[in-house]
Amino acid sequence: MNLSCQSCGAQLVVADTLRTATCPYCAAPSVVERPPTPDRPPPTFALGFVQTPQKARELARENLLRRSFWAPSSVRNASVEELRGIYVPAWLYSALAESDFSATIGEDYTETETYTTTENGKTVTKTRQVTRTEWRPLRGRHAEYIPDVLVTASSGLPNDELEHIEPFDLRALRRYDDALVAGWISEEPSLPPQQCQEQARAEVVEHLRQRLASFMPGDSHRDLQYSTRFHQESLVVCLLPVWVLALRHDPKSPPLRFLVNGQTGKVHGRVPVSWVKVLIAVVLGLLVLGGLYLLLSSHGKGLR
Ligand SMILES: [Zn+2]
Repeated sequence: MNLSCQSCGAQLVVADTLRTATCPYCAAPSVVERPPTPDRPPPTFALGFVQTPQKARELARENLLRRSFWAPSSVRNASVEELRGIYVPAWLYSALAESDFSATIGEDYTETETYTTTENGKTVTKTRQVTRTEWRPLRGRHAEYIPDVLVTASSGLPNDELEHIEPFDLRALRRYDDALVAGWISEEPSLPPQQCQEQARAEVVEHLRQRLASFMPGDSHRDLQYSTRFHQESLVVCLLPVWVLALRHDPKSPPLRFLVNGQTGKVHGRVPVSWVKVLIAVVLGLLVLGGLYLLLSSHGKGLR
């Protein structure tokens, strides 16, 4: 059955037995049936689920309890039974990145300096070692093949959330097969490839900042600038196994999501703070302090 979430835009493919009225990504009750997408090529690769539903629930529950002391009760008591396994679409990107860079390189050297100072009322001349830096400009070109950058292709699961449960062990990637996703919820890529490609390039550029910095000669550098061109780019769709628990504790705020990496068990979720709980704790704390103060001051008077 093909479903579409009118709230987050997810394009789901769901086994009939998993028929759902709410979106597994955003918990919005705005899931409608849609016609199948014509001529959509199947994903190229997929990673299978390793974590069992029981283990995923256990991980989610531990995480929820550990981090939700200050959370609204609705979150703290959320049912992890609602955790759902989804084959999330992602783009696997690789490219040859060629960068022209320029920087100012610093070489340190020591110099002996003479200086005058006053000792016992007399002016004396002394020497000391000082470190100085000589700066010189450097230009160059750096080329590097960047394999396996994963970016989300799902409008239901933003890239920054996916990054929190990475890495996936891509050595376990296999050719996509319909049998793998049978009985599961899966999603078709719902973000435009162009947007995913830009996201992947941005990740590579960010990665190169550290790479180039680590290659710089000398003792220090500054003003590192570079521009990168991409060659031999490849972008293929793969499905990633993710357990998702979506909660709506407040209809007006965005949904909360707990994610468990279906392969490694890495958990991610943001927990909101209940200001009512914090306020009660502060008031209780002040009452205790006030009580202690009264106790100590009356005790002090008794001694006098
Ligand atoms: Zn949704």
